[in-house]
Amino acid sequence: MSKTSKSADLFAKAQQKIPGGVNSPVRAFAGVGGTPLFIDRADGAYIFDADGNAYIDYVGSWGPMILGHNHAAIRDAVIHAAQQGLSFGAPTAMEITMAELVSELVPSMEMVRMVSSGTEATMSAIRLARGFTGRDNILKFEGCYHGHADCLLVKAGSGALTLGQPSSPGVPADFAKHTLTATYNDLDSVREAFTAQPDQIACIIVEPVAGNMNCIPPVAGFLQGLREICDEFGALLILDEVMTGFRVAQGGAQAYYNVKPDITTLGKIIGGGMPVGAFGGRRDVMEFIAPTGPVYQAGTLSGNPVAMAAGHACLTVLIEEGNEKRLANTTKRLANGFKALADKHGIPLAVNQVGAMFGFFFIDQDSVTCYDDVTKCDIERFKRFFNLMLDKGVYLAPSAYEACFTSLAHNDKEIDATLEAADFAFATLAA
Ligand code: PLP
Repeated sequence: MSKTSKSADLFAKAQQKIPGGVNSPVRAFAGVGGTPLFIDRADGAYIFDADGNAYIDYVGSWGPMILGHNHAAIRDAVIHAAQQGLSFGAPTAMEITMAELVSELVPSMEMVRMVSSGTEATMSAIRLARGFTGRDNILKFEGCYHGHADCLLVKAGSGALTLGQPSSPGVPADFAKHTLTATYNDLDSVREAFTAQPDQIACIIVEPVAGNMNCIPPVAGFLQGLREICDEFGALLILDEVMTGFRVAQGGAQAYYNVKPDITTLGKIIGGGMPVGAFGGRRDVMEFIAPTGPVYQAGTLSGNPVAMAAGHACLTVLIEEGNEKRLANTTKRLANGFKALADKHGIPLAVNQVGAMFGFFFIDQDSVTCYDDVTKCDIERFKRFFNLMLDKGVYLAPSAYEACFTSLAHNDKEIDATLEAADFAFATLAA
Protein backbone atom coordinates (compact mmCIF):
# COMPACT_ATOMS: atom_id res chain seq x y z
CA MET A 1 0.00 0.00 0.00
CA SER A 2 1.38 3.42 -0.90
CA LYS A 3 1.97 6.15 1.64
CA THR A 4 -0.94 8.13 0.17
CA SER A 5 -3.42 5.39 -0.67
CA LYS A 6 -6.30 7.06 1.20
CA SER A 7 -5.79 10.27 -0.79
CA ALA A 8 -5.72 8.19 -3.99
CA ASP A 9 -9.01 6.46 -3.04
CA LEU A 10 -10.63 9.79 -2.17
CA PHE A 11 -9.45 11.32 -5.44
CA ALA A 12 -10.95 8.46 -7.43
CA LYS A 13 -14.24 8.87 -5.55
CA ALA A 14 -14.23 12.67 -5.83
CA GLN A 15 -13.90 12.48 -9.60
CA GLN A 16 -17.26 10.72 -9.79
CA LYS A 17 -19.16 13.72 -8.47
CA ILE A 18 -16.88 16.76 -8.64
CA PRO A 19 -15.41 17.87 -12.00
CA GLY A 20 -11.78 16.76 -11.92
CA GLY A 21 -12.27 15.78 -8.27
CA VAL A 22 -11.58 19.31 -7.05
CA ASN A 23 -13.37 22.61 -6.49
CA SER A 24 -10.56 24.73 -7.95
CA PRO A 25 -8.38 23.45 -10.82
CA VAL A 26 -4.82 23.87 -9.47
CA ARG A 27 -5.65 21.52 -6.58
CA ALA A 28 -5.81 18.58 -9.01
CA PHE A 29 -1.97 18.39 -9.22
CA ALA A 30 -2.16 18.47 -13.04
CA GLY A 31 0.97 20.64 -13.02
CA VAL A 32 3.05 18.13 -11.08
CA GLY A 33 1.50 14.72 -11.78
CA GLY A 34 0.31 12.20 -9.22
CA THR A 35 -2.56 12.36 -6.80
CA PRO A 36 -3.53 15.47 -4.88
CA LEU A 37 -3.31 15.09 -1.12
CA PHE A 38 -6.65 15.15 0.64
CA ILE A 39 -6.19 17.16 3.80
CA ASP A 40 -7.65 16.17 7.14
CA ARG A 41 -6.41 18.98 9.32
CA ALA A 42 -3.69 21.60 9.62
CA ASP A 43 -1.80 23.17 12.49
CA GLY A 44 0.93 25.81 12.56
CA ALA A 45 3.27 25.27 9.60
CA TYR A 46 1.96 21.74 8.96
CA ILE A 47 -0.82 20.09 7.02
CA PHE A 48 -1.84 16.48 7.65
CA ASP A 49 -3.27 14.33 4.88
CA ALA A 50 -5.95 11.64 5.04
CA ASP A 51 -3.25 8.97 5.44
CA GLY A 52 -1.85 10.77 8.50
CA ASN A 53 1.31 12.11 6.82
CA ALA A 54 2.57 15.52 7.97
CA TYR A 55 3.96 18.12 5.54
CA ILE A 56 5.57 21.51 6.04
CA ASP A 57 3.15 23.68 4.10
CA TYR A 58 4.25 26.49 1.77
CA VAL A 59 0.83 26.94 0.16
CA GLY A 60 -1.00 28.22 3.23
CA SER A 61 -4.41 27.83 1.58
CA TRP A 62 -2.94 29.91 -1.30
CA GLY A 63 -2.10 32.81 0.96
CA PRO A 64 -4.53 33.45 3.81
CA MET A 65 -2.77 31.44 6.53
CA ILE A 66 -0.04 33.96 7.30
CA LEU A 67 -0.27 33.32 11.05
CA GLY A 68 0.02 29.57 10.47
CA HIS A 69 -2.87 27.12 10.43
CA ASN A 70 -5.50 26.86 13.12
CA HIS A 71 -4.27 29.94 14.97
CA ALA A 72 -5.95 30.25 18.37
CA ALA A 73 -6.80 33.95 17.98
CA ILE A 74 -8.68 33.37 14.72
CA ARG A 75 -10.33 30.19 15.92
CA ASP A 76 -11.57 31.88 19.11
CA ALA A 77 -12.84 34.92 17.21
CA VAL A 78 -14.74 32.69 14.77
CA ILE A 79 -16.31 30.63 17.55
CA HIS A 80 -17.35 33.76 19.42
CA ALA A 81 -18.85 35.37 16.30
CA ALA A 82 -20.66 32.18 15.31
CA GLN A 83 -22.30 32.08 18.73
CA GLN A 84 -23.89 35.47 17.99
CA GLY A 85 -25.40 34.36 14.65
CA LEU A 86 -23.95 33.48 11.27
CA SER A 87 -25.31 36.20 9.01
CA PHE A 88 -27.72 39.11 9.37
CA GLY A 89 -27.83 40.84 5.97
CA ALA A 90 -27.70 44.10 7.91
CA PRO A 91 -24.79 46.28 8.98
CA THR A 92 -22.67 45.43 12.03
CA ALA A 93 -20.19 47.41 14.14
CA MET A 94 -17.38 45.00 13.20
CA GLU A 95 -17.64 46.11 9.55
CA ILE A 96 -16.73 49.65 10.64
CA THR A 97 -13.86 48.35 12.79
CA MET A 98 -12.54 46.38 9.83
CA ALA A 99 -12.87 49.28 7.38
CA GLU A 100 -11.03 51.55 9.84
CA LEU A 101 -8.26 49.01 10.36
CA VAL A 102 -7.80 48.42 6.64
CA SER A 103 -7.69 52.19 5.98
CA GLU A 104 -5.13 52.62 8.72
CA LEU A 105 -2.87 49.88 7.33
CA VAL A 106 -3.40 50.82 3.68
CA PRO A 107 -3.96 54.60 3.72
CA SER A 108 -4.76 54.85 -0.01
CA MET A 109 -7.96 52.92 0.83
CA GLU A 110 -9.91 55.91 2.12
CA MET A 111 -13.14 53.94 1.85
CA VAL A 112 -13.57 50.16 1.80
CA ARG A 113 -16.28 47.79 0.50
CA MET A 114 -16.23 44.17 1.65
CA VAL A 115 -17.04 41.29 -0.71
CA SER A 116 -16.67 37.51 -0.46
CA SER A 117 -13.70 36.67 -2.72
CA GLY A 118 -10.77 38.16 -4.57
CA THR A 119 -12.60 37.62 -7.86
CA GLU A 120 -15.52 39.72 -6.66
CA ALA A 121 -13.11 42.42 -5.51
CA THR A 122 -11.35 42.78 -8.88
CA MET A 123 -14.56 42.42 -10.89
CA SER A 124 -16.21 45.18 -8.83
CA ALA A 125 -13.13 47.41 -8.93
CA ILE A 126 -13.11 47.22 -12.72
CA ARG A 127 -16.80 48.02 -13.01
CA LEU A 128 -16.21 50.98 -10.71
CA ALA A 129 -13.24 52.19 -12.79
CA ARG A 130 -15.31 51.93 -15.96
CA GLY A 131 -18.27 53.70 -14.39
CA PHE A 132 -16.12 56.45 -12.91
CA THR A 133 -14.15 57.20 -16.08
CA GLY A 134 -16.94 56.47 -18.58
CA ARG A 135 -14.49 54.31 -20.58
CA ASP A 136 -14.89 50.66 -21.59
CA ASN A 137 -11.39 49.29 -22.12
CA ILE A 138 -8.99 48.03 -19.46
CA LEU A 139 -5.33 47.04 -19.51
CA LYS A 140 -3.84 44.01 -17.77
CA PHE A 141 -0.53 42.15 -17.99
CA GLU A 142 0.30 38.80 -19.52
CA GLY A 143 0.79 36.24 -16.75
CA CYS A 144 -1.10 38.22 -14.10
CA TYR A 145 -4.22 36.58 -12.69
CA HIS A 146 -7.00 38.57 -11.10
CA GLY A 147 -9.68 35.94 -10.54
CA HIS A 148 -12.07 34.45 -13.06
CA ALA A 149 -14.33 37.32 -14.14
CA ASP A 150 -14.96 37.32 -17.91
CA CYS A 151 -13.04 40.53 -18.65
CA LEU A 152 -9.95 39.16 -16.89
CA LEU A 153 -9.78 35.75 -18.57
CA VAL A 154 -8.11 37.30 -21.57
CA LYS A 155 -4.76 36.79 -23.25
CA ALA A 156 -2.90 39.02 -25.66
CA GLY A 157 -3.92 39.00 -29.29
CA SER A 158 -1.36 38.44 -32.01
CA GLY A 159 0.17 41.92 -31.68
CA ALA A 160 0.56 44.17 -28.67
CA LEU A 161 -2.16 46.49 -29.87
CA THR A 162 -4.64 43.95 -31.16
CA LEU A 163 -7.80 43.11 -29.32
CA GLY A 164 -7.64 40.68 -26.41
CA GLN A 165 -8.60 37.05 -26.98
CA PRO A 166 -10.63 35.00 -24.49
CA SER A 167 -8.36 32.62 -22.56
CA SER A 168 -11.33 30.36 -21.76
CA PRO A 169 -14.29 29.12 -23.77
CA GLY A 170 -17.40 30.81 -22.42
CA VAL A 171 -15.88 34.28 -22.52
CA PRO A 172 -17.42 36.09 -25.49
CA ALA A 173 -14.88 37.65 -27.87
CA ASP A 174 -17.03 40.79 -27.65
CA PHE A 175 -16.15 41.06 -23.94
CA ALA A 176 -12.49 40.12 -24.35
CA LYS A 177 -11.92 42.80 -26.96
CA HIS A 178 -12.21 45.42 -24.22
CA THR A 179 -9.18 44.00 -22.40
CA LEU A 180 -5.74 45.02 -23.66
CA THR A 181 -2.73 43.00 -22.57
CA ALA A 182 0.75 44.42 -22.03
CA THR A 183 4.05 42.89 -20.93
CA TYR A 184 4.85 42.88 -17.21
CA ASN A 185 7.81 45.09 -16.32
CA ASP A 186 7.75 46.71 -19.77
CA LEU A 187 6.49 50.30 -19.60
CA ASP A 188 6.94 50.76 -23.35
CA SER A 189 4.26 48.16 -24.03
CA VAL A 190 1.89 50.07 -21.73
CA ARG A 191 2.62 53.43 -23.27
CA GLU A 192 2.09 51.99 -26.73
CA ALA A 193 -1.41 50.83 -25.76
CA PHE A 194 -2.31 54.22 -24.27
CA THR A 195 -0.90 56.11 -27.23
CA ALA A 196 -3.09 54.08 -29.56
CA GLN A 197 -6.19 54.60 -27.37
CA PRO A 198 -5.62 57.75 -25.31
CA ASP A 199 -9.28 58.22 -24.29
CA GLN A 200 -10.56 54.68 -24.10
CA ILE A 201 -8.71 52.92 -21.28
CA ALA A 202 -10.49 53.11 -17.92
CA CYS A 203 -7.79 51.50 -15.80
CA ILE A 204 -4.63 49.48 -15.49
CA ILE A 205 -4.98 46.47 -13.21
CA VAL A 206 -1.74 44.89 -12.03
CA GLU A 207 -0.37 42.52 -9.42
CA PRO A 208 2.27 44.76 -7.83
CA VAL A 209 4.37 41.64 -7.25
CA ALA A 210 3.16 39.03 -9.75
CA GLY A 211 2.34 35.84 -7.88
CA ASN A 212 0.45 33.92 -10.52
CA MET A 213 3.38 33.38 -12.87
CA ASN A 214 5.51 32.11 -9.99
CA CYS A 215 6.91 35.15 -8.12
CA ILE A 216 8.01 38.17 -10.15
CA PRO A 217 8.74 41.49 -8.45
CA PRO A 218 8.37 44.77 -10.35
CA VAL A 219 11.62 46.18 -11.73
CA ALA A 220 12.68 49.57 -10.35
CA GLY A 221 10.35 52.29 -11.61
CA PHE A 222 7.73 49.98 -13.14
CA LEU A 223 4.91 50.70 -10.69
CA GLN A 224 5.77 54.42 -10.58
CA GLY A 225 5.72 54.43 -14.39
CA LEU A 226 2.23 52.93 -14.39
CA ARG A 227 1.11 55.65 -11.96
CA GLU A 228 2.49 58.33 -14.27
CA ILE A 229 0.89 56.87 -17.40
CA CYS A 230 -2.49 56.65 -15.63
CA ASP A 231 -2.23 60.27 -14.54
CA GLU A 232 -1.22 61.40 -18.01
CA PHE A 233 -4.12 59.65 -19.73
CA GLY A 234 -6.82 60.04 -17.05
CA ALA A 235 -7.04 56.33 -16.23
CA LEU A 236 -7.24 54.74 -12.78
CA LEU A 237 -4.52 52.53 -11.34
CA ILE A 238 -5.81 49.37 -9.64
CA LEU A 239 -3.27 47.48 -7.58
CA ASP A 240 -4.53 43.94 -7.16
CA GLU A 241 -3.16 43.16 -3.72
CA VAL A 242 -5.32 40.06 -3.18
CA MET A 243 -2.08 38.09 -2.79
CA THR A 244 0.44 40.76 -1.80
CA GLY A 245 -1.77 42.63 0.68
CA PHE A 246 -0.36 42.35 4.24
CA ARG A 247 2.12 39.71 2.93
CA VAL A 248 4.76 41.67 1.05
CA ALA A 249 4.61 44.22 3.86
CA GLN A 250 2.01 45.26 6.41
CA GLY A 251 0.87 48.06 4.12
CA GLY A 252 1.03 45.77 1.08
CA ALA A 253 3.21 46.16 -1.99
CA GLN A 254 2.11 49.78 -2.30
CA ALA A 255 3.90 50.55 0.97
CA TYR A 256 6.92 48.43 0.03
CA TYR A 257 7.36 50.12 -3.36
CA ASN A 258 5.90 53.50 -2.39
CA VAL A 259 3.22 53.81 -5.06
CA LYS A 260 -0.31 55.11 -4.51
CA PRO A 261 -3.12 53.44 -6.47
CA ASP A 262 -6.60 54.83 -7.01
CA ILE A 263 -8.19 51.49 -6.08
CA THR A 264 -6.77 48.49 -4.20
CA THR A 265 -8.22 44.99 -4.17
CA LEU A 266 -7.69 42.62 -1.25
CA GLY A 267 -8.54 39.02 -0.40
CA LYS A 268 -6.96 35.99 1.26
CA ILE A 269 -5.28 37.35 4.46
CA ILE A 270 -8.07 39.87 5.06
CA GLY A 271 -10.38 36.90 5.72
CA GLY A 272 -7.96 34.91 7.87
CA GLY A 273 -9.09 31.74 6.07
CA MET A 274 -12.78 32.65 5.65
CA PRO A 275 -14.19 33.71 2.25
CA VAL A 276 -13.52 37.48 2.09
CA GLY A 277 -12.35 40.08 -0.40
CA ALA A 278 -12.39 43.86 -0.36
CA PHE A 279 -11.87 46.80 -2.64
CA GLY A 280 -11.27 50.38 -1.67
CA GLY A 281 -9.51 53.55 -2.61
CA ARG A 282 -9.98 57.25 -3.26
CA ARG A 283 -13.06 58.63 -1.55
CA ASP A 284 -14.40 60.35 -4.71
CA VAL A 285 -14.04 57.08 -6.65
CA MET A 286 -15.55 54.87 -3.93
CA GLU A 287 -18.53 57.20 -3.54
CA PHE A 288 -19.42 56.27 -7.12
CA ILE A 289 -20.57 52.87 -5.77
CA ALA A 290 -24.23 52.23 -4.86
CA PRO A 291 -25.95 53.40 -2.72
CA THR A 292 -24.05 56.73 -2.81
CA GLY A 293 -23.26 56.46 -6.50
CA PRO A 294 -24.62 54.96 -9.72
CA VAL A 295 -22.31 51.92 -10.11
CA TYR A 296 -24.11 48.82 -8.87
CA GLN A 297 -22.42 46.33 -6.58
CA ALA A 298 -23.90 44.14 -3.83
CA GLY A 299 -23.58 40.84 -1.92
CA THR A 300 -25.83 38.75 0.35
CA LEU A 301 -22.89 37.65 2.49
CA SER A 302 -20.69 40.75 2.08
CA GLY A 303 -19.24 41.80 5.44
CA ASN A 304 -20.32 38.49 6.93
CA PRO A 305 -19.85 38.70 10.72
CA VAL A 306 -17.93 35.43 11.09
CA ALA A 307 -15.61 36.31 8.20
CA MET A 308 -15.06 39.83 9.56
CA ALA A 309 -14.17 38.41 12.97
CA ALA A 310 -11.66 36.01 11.41
CA GLY A 311 -10.07 38.74 9.30
CA HIS A 312 -9.91 41.17 12.17
CA ALA A 313 -8.23 38.62 14.45
CA CYS A 314 -5.76 37.72 11.71
CA LEU A 315 -4.74 41.33 11.03
CA THR A 316 -4.57 42.19 14.73
CA VAL A 317 -2.00 39.47 15.40
CA LEU A 318 -0.14 40.04 12.15
CA ILE A 319 0.61 43.69 12.88
CA GLU A 320 2.15 43.00 16.28
CA GLU A 321 5.65 44.46 16.64
CA GLY A 322 8.38 42.46 14.94
CA ASN A 323 6.19 40.14 12.87
CA GLU A 324 6.73 41.87 9.51
CA LYS A 325 10.49 41.64 9.87
CA ARG A 326 10.43 38.08 11.16
CA LEU A 327 8.36 36.92 8.18
CA ALA A 328 10.68 38.61 5.69
CA ASN A 329 13.80 37.21 7.40
CA THR A 330 12.45 33.66 7.48
CA THR A 331 11.49 33.83 3.83
CA LYS A 332 14.80 35.33 2.80
CA ARG A 333 16.70 32.60 4.65
CA LEU A 334 14.69 29.97 2.82
CA ALA A 335 15.07 31.60 -0.61
CA ASN A 336 18.83 32.13 -0.17
CA GLY A 337 19.14 28.57 1.10
CA PHE A 338 17.47 27.18 -2.03
CA LYS A 339 19.80 29.18 -4.23
CA ALA A 340 22.95 28.13 -2.32
CA LEU A 341 21.97 24.45 -2.43
CA ALA A 342 21.14 24.56 -6.14
CA ASP A 343 24.55 26.17 -6.78
CA LYS A 344 26.23 23.50 -4.66
CA HIS A 345 24.76 20.79 -6.87
CA GLY A 346 25.29 22.67 -10.14
CA ILE A 347 21.57 23.11 -10.84
CA PRO A 348 20.75 26.41 -12.59
CA LEU A 349 18.14 28.18 -10.47
CA ALA A 350 16.79 31.73 -10.19
CA VAL A 351 15.04 32.70 -6.95
CA ASN A 352 12.76 35.67 -6.25
CA GLN A 353 11.54 36.74 -2.81
CA VAL A 354 9.64 39.73 -1.47
CA GLY A 355 8.39 39.81 2.13
CA ALA A 356 6.66 36.53 2.87
CA MET A 357 6.37 35.25 -0.71
CA PHE A 358 8.98 33.56 -2.87
CA GLY A 359 9.43 31.59 -6.05
CA PHE A 360 12.17 29.58 -7.74
CA PHE A 361 12.74 28.92 -11.42
CA PHE A 362 14.72 26.13 -13.05
CA ILE A 363 16.32 28.41 -15.60
CA ASP A 364 19.87 29.34 -16.56
CA GLN A 365 19.56 33.11 -16.18
CA ASP A 366 19.99 35.43 -13.21
CA SER A 367 16.69 37.26 -13.32
CA VAL A 368 13.15 36.36 -14.34
CA THR A 369 11.05 39.45 -15.01
CA CYS A 370 8.11 38.56 -17.23
CA TYR A 371 5.85 35.76 -18.41
CA ASP A 372 8.04 34.97 -21.42
CA ASP A 373 10.92 34.23 -19.06
CA VAL A 374 8.73 31.93 -16.96
CA THR A 375 7.75 29.88 -20.00
CA LYS A 376 11.44 29.16 -20.64
CA CYS A 377 11.81 27.31 -17.32
CA ASP A 378 12.43 23.58 -17.18
CA ILE A 379 8.97 22.39 -16.13
CA GLU A 380 9.93 18.70 -16.06
CA ARG A 381 12.68 19.48 -13.59
CA PHE A 382 10.24 21.44 -11.46
CA LYS A 383 7.85 18.47 -11.40
CA ARG A 384 10.58 16.11 -10.25
CA PHE A 385 11.74 18.57 -7.60
CA PHE A 386 8.18 19.07 -6.35
CA ASN A 387 7.62 15.33 -5.97
CA LEU A 388 11.00 14.73 -4.31
CA MET A 389 10.19 17.46 -1.79
CA LEU A 390 6.70 16.08 -1.23
CA ASP A 391 8.15 12.68 -0.53
CA LYS A 392 10.41 14.29 2.08
CA GLY A 393 7.41 15.99 3.75
CA VAL A 394 7.51 19.44 2.14
CA TYR A 395 4.37 20.72 0.40
CA LEU A 396 5.29 23.37 -2.18
CA ALA A 397 2.82 25.04 -4.55
CA PRO A 398 1.86 22.26 -7.00
CA SER A 399 2.59 24.34 -10.11
CA ALA A 400 5.64 26.02 -11.60
CA TYR A 401 3.43 29.07 -12.15
CA GLU A 402 2.52 29.73 -8.51
CA ALA A 403 4.35 31.57 -5.75
CA CYS A 404 5.05 29.91 -2.40
CA PHE A 405 4.16 31.42 0.97
CA THR A 406 5.62 31.35 4.45
CA SER A 407 3.84 32.07 7.74
CA LEU A 408 4.70 33.15 11.26
CA ALA A 409 4.56 29.47 12.22
CA HIS A 410 7.54 28.69 9.98
CA ASN A 411 10.42 28.74 12.43
CA ASP A 412 14.07 27.69 12.16
CA LYS A 413 13.10 24.06 12.70
CA GLU A 414 10.85 24.05 9.61
CA ILE A 415 13.28 26.03 7.46
CA ASP A 416 16.15 23.70 8.43
CA ALA A 417 14.06 20.64 7.58
CA THR A 418 12.99 22.18 4.27
CA LEU A 419 16.57 22.99 3.29
CA GLU A 420 17.68 19.49 4.24
CA ALA A 421 14.99 18.09 1.93
CA ALA A 422 16.04 20.52 -0.81
CA ASP A 423 19.67 19.41 -0.47
CA PHE A 424 18.56 15.85 -1.14
CA ALA A 425 16.21 16.88 -3.99
CA PHE A 426 18.83 19.00 -5.82
CA ALA A 427 21.41 16.21 -5.36
CA THR A 428 18.97 13.72 -6.89
CA LEU A 429 18.28 16.05 -9.84
CA ALA A 430 22.01 16.46 -10.40
CA ALA A 431 22.74 12.72 -10.29
N1 PLP B 1 -6.19 38.40 -7.62
C1 PLP B 1 -5.06 37.75 -7.34
C2 PLP B 1 -3.76 38.48 -7.44
C3 PLP B 1 -5.09 36.41 -6.96
O1 PLP B 1 -3.94 35.78 -6.69
C4 PLP B 1 -6.34 35.78 -6.87
C5 PLP B 1 -6.41 34.36 -6.48
O2 PLP B 1 -5.45 33.66 -6.30
C6 PLP B 1 -7.50 36.49 -7.16
C7 PLP B 1 -7.39 37.81 -7.53
C8 PLP B 1 -8.83 35.83 -7.06
O3 PLP B 1 -9.16 35.60 -5.73
P1 PLP B 1 -10.21 34.46 -5.33
O4 PLP B 1 -9.59 33.15 -5.65
O5 PLP B 1 -10.45 34.69 -3.86
O6 PLP B 1 -11.45 34.73 -6.13
